[in-house]
Amino acid sequence: MGNQSSSSKNTHMSAEPPSPAVVKSDEEWRAELTPEQYRVLRKKGTERAGTGEYNKHFEEGTYLCAGCETPLYEAEHKFDSGCGWPAFYDSVEGAVARKSESFPDTRTEILCSACGGHIGHVFAGEGFKTPTNERHCANSVSLKFKPKAKGEGEGEGE
Ligand SMILES: [Zn+2]
Repeated sequence: MGNQSSSSKNTHMSAEPPSPAVVKSDEEWRAELTPEQYRVLRKKGTERAGTGEYNKHFEEGTYLCAGCETPLYEAEHKFDSGCGWPAFYDSVEGAVARKSESFPDTRTEILCSACGGHIGHVFAGEGFKTPTNERHCANSVSLKFKPKAKGEGEGEGE
């Protein structure tokens, strides 16, 4: 009888991050990225509404982080919000980190969880009429579109 708390069980595994962290110095980023990418990704800038390459872009594929090429969003999560920036209602699991901002407004920044690059902001509300009631408002320059490979995922035989 009695509770025997027998010796240590090693069940304490630390959670692995979804992607390897990409750490680069400011100078390295500046050398790799275009000036506009650098301004948005590393300095939290915002591209002008309606000017982004992917604003009205609807093709099958995946949107990667322009800084480190981590897949962030699937094309099927993209919707036309009319806000002037690419909008997604969901992200690749674990790929997008969130950070609350209190200045100049209370809103939530979204970042690439691998390299910390600034993507944009996420807003919540039922008015968006999306399955998640969320709208990820992303900068096109923070993204890099990878078209779906031909034949991939097409399993229709017979
Ligand atoms: Zn990244």
